[in-house]
Amino acid sequence: MNKLNVLIVEDSKPILQIHKHLVTNAGFNPVTAETFAEVKALEHMFPDFFCAIIDYSLPDAPNGEAIPYLLDHNVPGVVMTGMIDDETRDTILNLPVIDYITKESKQAYTYLQHLLVKLRVNHLIKILVVDESDDSREYLKRLLNRHNYDVILASTGAEAIAQLEKHPTIKLVITDKELPNMDGIELCNQIRSKYSKDEISIIGLSGADNPALTAKFIKNGANDFLTKPFCLEEFYCRVLQNIEFIESVETIRRQANTDYLTGLYNRRYFFEKVSPEITKRFDGSTNSTLAMMDIDHFKSVNDTYGHDAGDEILKATAQLIQQHFSADYLAARIGGEEFCIFLDTLARDEATLLLDNFRQEMENMSVEVGGNTIKCTISIGVAHCCEDSFDGIMIKADELLYEAKEAGRNVVITD
Ligand code: GH3
Ligand code: MG
Ligand code: MG
Repeated sequence: MNKLNVLIVEDSKPILQIHKHLVTNAGFNPVTAETFAEVKALEHMFPDFFCAIIDYSLPDAPNGEAIPYLLDHNVPGVVMTGMIDDETRDTILNLPVIDYITKESKQAYTYLQHLLVKLRVNHLIKILVVDESDDSREYLKRLLNRHNYDVILASTGAEAIAQLEKHPTIKLVITDKELPNMDGIELCNQIRSKYSKDEISIIGLSGADNPALTAKFIKNGANDFLTKPFCLEEFYCRVLQNIEFIESVETIRRQANTDYLTGLYNRRYFFEKVSPEITKRFDGSTNSTLAMMDIDHFKSVNDTYGHDAGDEILKATAQLIQQHFSADYLAARIGGEEFCIFLDTLARDEATLLLDNFRQEMENMSVEVGGNTIKCTISIGVAHCCEDSFDGIMIKADELLYEAKEAGRNVVITD
């Protein structure tokens, strides 16, 4: 999506300044109009607008006339209003606006900026809507599309399960209770047998006539529920909240698995992932190789150029590892200047060649830090899987690394 212009329709100059500031902060280019006439004069630009922030009341359009005008011209709109009565609020909400925000407090502007940022990235978020009725399914899709979400549809539980397998990045499932064969509650159960509550969020939809259903949904693994007919504001808030929950867990998980300095996986993750893989290959039927590498005389880099320069070498080494080894091979920083690589399915000779090429690249690498050109070498111990346990392989690779150091460093030693 590269429509980066946001139209700001606002007659108050101070508010216009605030909006310009937060539109820019959200990564968009602000274009302004202070009257309805100015809005109309910008018609040639309408196809280039990502969305518009529309003040409800303008000097030449006091009753929100600019809102349907822009919506009719396919410019999605967020409406900003002063204090309004319930009737006006309902009128706005009946129009297909993205959202409406009352200019009551500073919080309204924080909310608007957050909304703009989300609208820009929501196309990356997949939501699965499961509903038997064509009309309801399309209605939910339209609502979600208004916020730019990537919507996938299913009309039965079985179709929903198939879509989840096809699209592993789905973050949220919205399911109606009434489905043919497998109902919404059973679907929750089935989803939970494969995906936990912090991997995929589920919102159950149920009619108002059966209040016990909401508890049933939750007890069967739904994260949340909505009673139909629902208020649009509540719908969008719950969708956002459930997606943000999944995203927070993803962030925490990513932080827990990666090394803060280099961005490589950390020791814990490496052990957790590689150990079961090696156990699987215990009978020696599959080729795999585990390499342990350690930067040579790294202490003297710190002693000569300082700890910060040492950090730069570690980052450059990690970058070289990422460039050299494909994403199929798991690389981690397992200690200070020690790295491990699990070369899954790669036979000994191929792996050794790849590792020796890396050793040479490391030898040729120069890192400029604070006016100094620093060069380093690396020693590598390579153990072949898998007639030993994970611990056994790690010990073997470590012993071979020690041999490499004894042999004068900057060398690969294989079992
Ligand atoms: P060898 O060739 O035998 O491996 O010698 P070496 O100097 O590389 O090994 P030694 O184990 O004596 O020293 C490792 C050094 O790595 C000591 C430690 O201060 C440094 N180190 C560990 N973690 C970090 C880090 O995160 N940043 C920096 N700058 N240095 C680190
Ligand atoms: Mg070292
Ligand atoms: Mg070391």
